[in-house]
Amino acid sequence: MGARRFILLGPPGAGKGTQSARLIEALGVPQISTGDLLRAARKAGTELGKQAQAYMDAGQLVPDALVLSLVEERLAREDARTGYILDGFPRNIAQAEALASRGIAVERVVNVVVDSSALLGRLTGRRVCQQCGATYHIQTAPTSREGVCDACGGVVSQRKDDDAAVIANRLEVYHRETSPLIEYYDRRGLLRSVDGLQTADVVFDAVLAALEN
Ligand code: ADP
Ligand code: AMP
Repeated sequence: MGARRFILLGPPGAGKGTQSARLIEALGVPQISTGDLLRAARKAGTELGKQAQAYMDAGQLVPDALVLSLVEERLAREDARTGYILDGFPRNIAQAEALASRGIAVERVVNVVVDSSALLGRLTGRRVCQQCGATYHIQTAPTSREGVCDACGGVVSQRKDDDAAVIANRLEVYHRETSPLIEYYDRRGLLRSVDGLQTADVVFDAVLAALEN
């Protein structure tokens, strides 16, 4: 079988990361999250990470050239040969065009639909393990011990950009820059939408069904 390439689309807080973590196991392909790659670059103190910092802290998109160079490097790695789940990329039409111009055909784009009113609570309540990246929520998916990751025992904390003022910018950027991708992929016959307001288990079943249909 050929490589299986998928895109998870949706606003910040829709549950893309949560679903990707499950899909890695189910599909046996890696998740490629540009948000994770950018945070790793910042942590490592690379030049690219330093250049991305101000944009991320303000909830703006990092310039396409920086993101595309990270993606290029990641897609060239061995584990991406059998396919991948793109999470948080592409984030605008130019990034989608860059992907297409490399001759990369995606099999399916799943749009996780969550209305804006639910996103603020999702994002302000999100907590992330600093060590393994596992994602929690203070109400809907809490850790067993406060501040300690169930999976690896690492420290669980809040992302700096999960702050109300920055979230407002991120949602605005989503509507302006990213939501046009819904129509872009729909016109190409690749889009399926799932209701992201259901429990994570139910959403997962819907995502799997969408990938196969
Ligand atoms: P994204 O990657 O799209 O930004 P996340 O997967 O990080 O979103 O999810 C955002 C927050 O919402 C996290 O705290 C997560 O635990 C929570 N969450 C994810 N899916 C659901 C769901 N189906 N129902 C309730 N909360 C969810
Ligand atoms: P995320 O982890 O997907 O919520 O992304 C966190 C932040 O990283 C965003 O608010 C942007 O500043 C930046 N980012 C992530 N992915 C992209 C992308 N594909 N293009 C531009 N900026 C991105």
